[in-house]
Amino acid sequence: MVSYKAPLDDIRFCLYDLLGYDDRVTTLPGCEEATRDVVDAILEEGARFCENELLPLNQSGDSEGCHFDKGVVRTPKGFKEAYAAYRVAGWTGLAADPTYGGQGLPKTLEFLVQELICSTNMSFGMYPGLSHGAYNALETWGSDDLKARTLPHLADGRWAGTMCLTEPHCGTDLGLIHTRAEPLESQRYAITGQKIFISAGEHDLTENILHLVLARLPDAPSGTRGISLFLVPKFLLGESGDDLGQRNGVSCGSIEEKMGIKASSTCVMNFDGAEGYLVGEPHGGMKAMFTMMNAARLGVGIQGLGLAETAYQSAVAYARERRQGRSLAGPAEPQQKADPIIVHPDVRKNLMTMRALTEGSRALAIWVGMELDVAERHPDMARRQEADDFVALMTPVIKAFCTDHGFDAATRAQQIYGGHGYIKEQGIEQLVRDARITQIYEGTNGIQALDLVGRKLGQNMGRLLRRFFHPVHGFIEENQTDPALAIYVLPLAKAFSRLQQATAWVAQQGLRDPEEAGAAASDYLRLFAFVALAYVWARTAKLCLAKQEGDGGGFYRAKINTADFYMARILPESNALFQQIMAGKKPLMAMAADDF
Ligand SMILES: Cc1cc2nc3c(=O)[nH]c(=O)nc-3n(C[C@H](O)[C@H](O)[C@H](O)COP(=O)(O)OP(=O)(O)OC[C@H]3O[C@@H](n4cnc5c(N)ncnc54)[C@H](O)[C@@H]3O)c2cc1C
Repeated sequence: MVSYKAPLDDIRFCLYDLLGYDDRVTTLPGCEEATRDVVDAILEEGARFCENELLPLNQSGDSEGCHFDKGVVRTPKGFKEAYAAYRVAGWTGLAADPTYGGQGLPKTLEFLVQELICSTNMSFGMYPGLSHGAYNALETWGSDDLKARTLPHLADGRWAGTMCLTEPHCGTDLGLIHTRAEPLESQRYAITGQKIFISAGEHDLTENILHLVLARLPDAPSGTRGISLFLVPKFLLGESGDDLGQRNGVSCGSIEEKMGIKASSTCVMNFDGAEGYLVGEPHGGMKAMFTMMNAARLGVGIQGLGLAETAYQSAVAYARERRQGRSLAGPAEPQQKADPIIVHPDVRKNLMTMRALTEGSRALAIWVGMELDVAERHPDMARRQEADDFVALMTPVIKAFCTDHGFDAATRAQQIYGGHGYIKEQGIEQLVRDARITQIYEGTNGIQALDLVGRKLGQNMGRLLRRFFHPVHGFIEENQTDPALAIYVLPLAKAFSRLQQATAWVAQQGLRDPEEAGAAASDYLRLFAFVALAYVWARTAKLCLAKQEGDGGGFYRAKINTADFYMARILPESNALFQQIMAGKKPLMAMAADDF
């Protein structure tokens, strides 16, 4: 079994010391009650639940998987009970609107709890995760009547949600969708078509399932401009809003056998004239679905982060315990026959890389989480817009970078475990298998990079970009003459300058030839993330250097060591990425397709 304790000290450090939670979030209208005491208590409770209820089901859920029998899906043993306990404890409605029975707590808190869930049982987290997404889409785009009849059930977890986009012939290119919506009387529609790969499409955890389905109206223009969003419940919505109506014409045809997240059902869903209700405007489905997808993309980034944390903690525990060979500096524990493998530089390189990228990504993700709250609640509309811009800019970065890191961290842990990481017993190969999907779904990481380069960079004349560039520039200006910070600020300034040059180059070349932007996209996103983490680590180091005295547990010392490692051993990769970007499309595109 993997080793895991919720990293509450690091979360608190990010929230309170680094990112100023009290000034930024508790001061927002409606968040006054979410004080440190409340946040700490919720995190501790969340940690207990995840460590004690979800973690023990992770390996057994993976071994057993979901069961399919004539349209009925059963989750693995223990999942129903765990979900019931999760619901009763109020986790499903943590950040939901109190009007609909939610607790109205900040989104930041939901982010933090999501990390703990993904660290301990990513498959389990898929079910409430999809429901949150459905809640957000309905809250933003649903009619008052639909909201009143659905949101309370999603908030209290009696019902679940799904996101039905993918069809057999289209995943990335949703403009190709075939599913049809025929108008009936009384603002109802008959939905017909097949969706595949639908997470949580059918299961036994909730009384009802609300499918959010992309489909085409009869007069729809072709492509993504002709897609509308519909709510299709498994059981029709009863008159009173509380009772369930008849079974609707939607059914699960089969579930997929797959590489990882085996306890999460991945379903083929057949819609046979199923009754549905329009959500948002006709042909405005992509816009409405983006509400759900953006939240889901951040959620998937958090999945990567959560898995990386478990991989790191497990690898540290193993590296302390496993004895092989001697330290190159001479026996570290001469009384033993061999030293623990944590003495070996190569093992340490993996551990330090995992640690630096996980903690850096966490700080970045929490920063984005806080700005989500600011974007929704700040009394000053200009400040809201700023925050919204920042979240939009960072969403593809969090999704792609954190999930690439999640998979990388899982394979690094596997390397540290050696053969014991490859066999099933220790649970590490499950982390590798579970992590892989995060790079693929919710828009592959390649598509995230295109979103950053093709949409976000140029949006509003570079306004989104300035939300990130300005704070970085300000920090460098403010600290560049401080000799104690030189080992952080100088590398940050160099990498930032490369990012600025690459940005100008990509923008210019992209205007002239979109293939140039496409060829640069993935490397550009990674360079962007490395600079973002350098900024986070430079700020962290500054803070921790000032707090070193009275550092009982060595927390700040470890942060400084990790910041040093990041600057010296990871950030230089930004130079290689810069060179790759500037090499342009030619080396990629020169070969004819037939020559492959
Ligand atoms: C376990 C699992 C759960 C899932 N859950 C859901 C769900 O709940 N709801 C749902 O609707 N879908 C779900 N999906 C589907 C998932 O979102 C898609 O698989 C994913 O978006 C990619 O689509 P695709 O598989 O059709 O690949 P394709 O779109 O065929 O892409 C294949 C490759 O081509 C690349 N590519 C495609 N177009 C471009 C382009 N324009 N530029 C550059 N590269 C391009 C992609 O990056 C990818 O590498 C799930 C899938 C899995 C496996």
